[in-house]
Formats: sequence, C-alpha cells, structure tokens
Amino acid sequence: MSKKHMTQGGPGDKFLGDGKVDTSKWFQRTRNLEQEIKNGDIWFCSAPFQLLYTNTSGTLAPCSWAEDIHDRGPNVLAYGDKFEKRKTLKDYYLHDPTLNKIREEMTTVGSDLETCNYVCYNCRHQEEKYGRSRRQASMKIQTNDKILWPRIRNVAEEFLADGRVSLKDRIFEVQVKAFGNKCNLDCYMCIPFDSSVRMKTMGSEELKEENVFSDGMKKKIELPPTGSLDDVIDQITELAPYIYNLKLIGGEPLVMPKFYKLLEEIIKTGEAPHIMLKYQTNITTLAFDKHKIAEFIPEFELFEFTVSLDGIEKENDYIRRRSSWSNIVHNMQYVSMFPNVHVNINGTISFLSVLRFYRLIEWANDNGDIIKQINWSNIRGPKRICANVLPQKLKDKLIPMYEGYPDIQNVLKESNHGHSHQDALDYLMLFDNKYKGTKWEMNLFDVYPELEEFYNPPKEVKRDEDFVSDVENYDIQDVILHPKIQDAIKEQNESPELSNYIKEHDKILAENKNER
Ligand code: SF4
Ligand code: SF4
Repeated sequence: MSKKHMTQGGPGDKFLGDGKVDTSKWFQRTRNLEQEIKNGDIWFCSAPFQLLYTNTSGTLAPCSWAEDIHDRGPNVLAYGDKFEKRKTLKDYYLHDPTLNKIREEMTTVGSDLETCNYVCYNCRHQEEKYGRSRRQASMKIQTNDKILWPRIRNVAEEFLADGRVSLKDRIFEVQVKAFGNKCNLDCYMCIPFDSSVRMKTMGSEELKEENVFSDGMKKKIELPPTGSLDDVIDQITELAPYIYNLKLIGGEPLVMPKFYKLLEEIIKTGEAPHIMLKYQTNITTLAFDKHKIAEFIPEFELFEFTVSLDGIEKENDYIRRRSSWSNIVHNMQYVSMFPNVHVNINGTISFLSVLRFYRLIEWANDNGDIIKQINWSNIRGPKRICANVLPQKLKDKLIPMYEGYPDIQNVLKESNHGHSHQDALDYLMLFDNKYKGTKWEMNLFDVYPELEEFYNPPKEVKRDEDFVSDVENYDIQDVILHPKIQDAIKEQNESPELSNYIKEHDKILAENKNER
C-alpha cells in the first residue's frame, strides 16, 4: 500500500492524532456471537454443537430434552444387522440435516426458530412458563468453562463461516442411553419404559386400573440386542480423542454390564485421563457382578456421580421405591473420598417431591463436603403427577416455602389444567397395594399425611346423596370426573342430584372466595 493511501482515510486507518487511527471498520466480518447470545439476539444452545445423545431405543437427538422429529427411520443408531441402514454417532454429528437446520436457526439473528420450536419444545416451553430449562442450565455452566467454551465457540463460528462442522477439538459430551433400561428401582414418577422394574410393576394386575401413565409410556420398546451393543461401544471409542465428557444413563448404569465393558474399552484407548466420566445414577450400589466402580474411578480425569434424588429419608424411600436413604448417603460419602470424584444431585419436581423438596435443598447445603451442586427441573410428564396438579390448598401453603426458587413457585402457581389430583392419589394407593407384604411396603399417608384429606376412596362415595350431604369435602373436578357421576350423566342425562350438588358446591365456592 502506498503511503498516500494510508493517510487518505483508507479503510479503518484514518489518522486521529495522538498516535491513534480510526478502528471503526476493523473486525467487520466477525460477529460477536457471545454478545448476541447474552443479549438474546439469537436463541443459542450448545447441545447441537457438542452433544451426542442416544435414547433407550437408539434414536439420535441433540439432547435428552429434544423431541424426536424423525420417524425412527434413518436417525437411529447403527448397530447389529441394522448397521448399514442407520447412522453412526460420527455421521449424525457431521451430516444430519435436522441438526444443521437447528444450528442454523440458533445462529441466525431474527430466525423464526421453526425447527427449534418443535425439536426444542421442552426448553422453549419451560423457559416461557418457569424461567428454567436444560438449555439455560447448561449454558450457564459451559459459558463459564474456560476450556470447553472456547471450543464450542470455535465450532459455532466454523458453522457460521462454512455451514458445516468438523472434528477438531475435544468437545463432545456423549450421552449414552442406548444400552437398555435395566434398573433396580421403581420410582413412582419414572416413565415405565425407562426402567425394567417399572415396566413389570406398571404391567402388573395390581396397577391395571391406574390412570396416570398412557399406554405408550408402558409399551415395550425395542431395545438393541445385547450382542450388537459392541458396535455402539466401537463408535464411542472411535470418538474417544474428541470426548470431553461421557455420560452414562440407564436404566441404572451401575447395574448394566455393558457400561463396564465400555469403560474398559475407553481405558484401552489411553484417552481416559483426558475424559470426564459422568454417571447419572441412583447410586444404590457400587458393585455389580465382578465389577467394582472404585476400580474405574482413578483411571479418568474426573468422575462425576449425578445422583437422582427427590427427597431425603422416608420421602426418598417412598418416591424411589426399593431404595434406602441411609444406603444412598453411605455410597455418596464413600465415592466422595476419591480426589477426582464430584457428587451432584439432580432432582425432579413432581406431585410428591414438591411437598418436601426444600428439605433436600437444605440437606445438600448442609452437606457441602459431599455434594458439589444440586440441580432440578419440573417433570414434563405424565401431566397427572406434575406438581401443579396438587390440591390448591397445598399449593398455596407450599409457595412461600420456595422463596428464591421462582421456577418451583411458578409450577405451584399454575392451574391443574383440568387434571384431578384424584388420579394421582388413586395411582399411589394402587402402588402401595402392590408393595404390601414386601420389604418395601410403605403407605402414602404415613409419609405425606397432608394428602389424606384430599383422597376420596371410591368405596366411600357409593351413593349420590353422600356427595350432597358431605359436599364441602369434595372438589368439583373430582366429583364430575368420578366414574359414578360419569355413569349417572350417561344414564340419566342429567341427574337432579348432580345439579343440586353443583348448585350447592358453587355456593360454597362463592362464599369461600368472599371470605378470602
Ligand atoms: S434447546 Fe433444549 S431441547 Fe434444544 S438442544 Fe438445547 S437443551 Fe436440547
Ligand atoms: S432409578 Fe431412574 S430409571 Fe430407575 S426407576 Fe428410578 S427414575 Fe427410573
């Protein structure tokens, strides 16, 4: 460049005096991605750029919260005799068109987020309703991770520049749920196909009448045959040099032999000292068959146990049936003695847990020597056991208990959307009945006595007159949804007793409203 050009206000170099030039035209081709994310100009999530998730039946997705947009055709993990027709983890990350569409929307200012609105419905919905989502939780952690975040930013910028991503850095979080659903617990809110014990319980004669879980949630799903899982192990070990953390999800990974095989294979690659291993676990056991988890811990850079807990003491034992609080605490204490172990708690806010979840938060705070952090989210289904379905009187009492936790308060402020708490209580009574006479026998009202006044056992409401004489003890929803009333409506079109009842109940509701 000639000297003349340099002094005549060529791009970005106008001399301003005092040794300075005009830099306003510098970096024009670089977008400030971080600022755009922080300002909310783009709705960005790191998962499509660094997370590889496979669900129980092998479907590939950007994360565990994402909705499956595919018809379980091409977007299912390759294994066994289906290897040729399906995708490997690597193919999915590099070439999946839906994943690229999500990436594009997440990096475009003013995008209509058409694909994200569907695939990321759960985060979109939870952010709007409760101000807390998986996206927000992981963005908070990852954008403060000095090692991982620059790598995520690099890959996002690579995508912005070339419309594609490549394998360069150690960036992946691989979440493996494709090893089956073997589990040793029977947590009341767990979607049955996620646990082998739940599948048995929910398919049993005793639970036939329950009205909380849909048939789809209880349907047997196709699991990869055990032999073919070696293909999945190969795909993961191939990616080992790019794995930042590896998360093992069940069922219960500590009772699943293939996970131990996966760890052995990763250790053989020599990459384990650079990998953080995460177990999403109920931590009820630390040994299975010939395997002891303690033998694997020192091999990895960091070993994290994210323990699923929804309560302490008898509330834990009730919600997570077949587990024992004292045993869980013992196991957490034991693993936390290893220098490279972190123990975190991951809770779910549901119909029962919200009644005492504040006790778990307190316990975690008091046990900072064992617990590194506690996180939680509202369950997304089944709708009938979400926290908002609790009776209004209990929700009103609970709201002040969660001062400072607006996401929990918001779910308690939400209407029940027409769902009756009676379905949840009926289900829990059947559940208790299933465990009668076993070593896990427990009774709902011994653990949560405040629920008893809201339970209307079907046998006590035999005649319509009983409703009318005892009207103030019932909720309009429960009575209208009650099978007896439904029958009466069907048979008589409109029974005089029912309309009397409704009038009387409306009167009481109006009086109560006036008193408030
Ligand atoms: S926005 Fe939510 S659902 Fe979508 S990829 Fe991120 S974490 Fe998953
Ligand atoms: S431990 Fe996990 S997989 Fe097992 S029943 Fe409980 S929630 Fe379901």
